[in-house]
Amino acid sequence: MGRPLVAEIDLDALRHNYCLACDLAPTSQALAVIKADAYGHGAVACAHALSDLVPAFAVACIEEAEVLRQGSIDKPIVLLEGIFTPDELPRVEALGLWLAVHSDWQVDALLAYQPRSPVPVWIKVDSGMHRLGFPPKCLPDVWHRLQDAPDRVTDLHLMSHFATADLLDDGYFHHQMGLLEALATELDAPTCLANSPATLAWPRAHGAWNRPGVMLYGSDPLEGANDASRKLKPVMTLRSEIIAVRDIEAGEPVGYGGRWIAPRCSRIGVVAAGYGDGYDRHALDGTPVLVDGQRTSLAGKVSMDMLTVDLTDLPQAGIGSRVVLWGQDPDGAILSIDEVARHCDTISYTLLTGVLPRVPRRYRRDKASGEA
Ligand SMILES: *Cc1c(COP(=O)(O)O)cnc(C)c1O
Repeated sequence: MGRPLVAEIDLDALRHNYCLACDLAPTSQALAVIKADAYGHGAVACAHALSDLVPAFAVACIEEAEVLRQGSIDKPIVLLEGIFTPDELPRVEALGLWLAVHSDWQVDALLAYQPRSPVPVWIKVDSGMHRLGFPPKCLPDVWHRLQDAPDRVTDLHLMSHFATADLLDDGYFHHQMGLLEALATELDAPTCLANSPATLAWPRAHGAWNRPGVMLYGSDPLEGANDASRKLKPVMTLRSEIIAVRDIEAGEPVGYGGRWIAPRCSRIGVVAAGYGDGYDRHALDGTPVLVDGQRTSLAGKVSMDMLTVDLTDLPQAGIGSRVVLWGQDPDGAILSIDEVARHCDTISYTLLTGVLPRVPRRYRRDKASGEA
């Protein structure tokens, strides 16, 4: 069997979460955002698992789109940041991609290129994130320049990104929405605005298209969970086993730097998983871990290949016991990646995209669901 660490990917849960995004926005279509190797879950496998449900996928760059095409994914794919250099346009055309356009030089490059058939284009406006996109006052001019080139571009949409859709304080979100609604009305433009938190919490943002990402993988991006986000199911379970156990006296330290010191006579379990696998070294003592479906906690700094947990209150646990670092135990207990992330002072996105190649991905799909 070898080293017991695996990232198990529940493709039924992925489909469930995608369907939830659709149910929440019945008049929108949902792009499945599968950039960064589907947030660490494996882009080709996830795309195949979703392909009968999803009208189009989204990635960050042409290299990610090429991986999908090589993996026989033939649905439309949106490049969320568009092209990085003008010489990508022939590949965009050959791969049949849709383009976001956020800068003047991209507009110029598109208008200077003659594709065999026009490229679908989503024009990005900076409504307050202040990262990518045209200032709102420039948007009508850009829109009309592209609209006047129907041999080159087609199917124009208005795209924007929210800075605070996850927060309970919704003032800035509504400020962005106000700008976007005015522009969409002025240009009579179909929109694509909503990321995961806006899909889950803000029907006002639902447009012709939405762009859910992290929610597809079962993480709740909202500052305060709502009825919708509580229906998400974890997709990745990072599982391993206890490979050694030792008893130590009160006052003895565990691991590098002796950060954790046993407050009483303690049983320490050693787990095959470390930062060399992508488990965050910033995890604090007390970070939750499931052992045989029971909650316990990290005790001591994470090492490259191992970490240590406190088994003192789990006397039946021992070598070979099941360990879940996030996700779902076979007995049903769930350890939310969002909770683990809070103990690492980070977000689920970094934990998921940080699972390293040496961790084998194992795919599960139990329910037969039509064509593959
Ligand atoms: C990554 C990304 C998304 C998805 O965001 P989530 O918070 O994961 O839902 C949506 N839109 C753009 C432009 C992105 O880059």
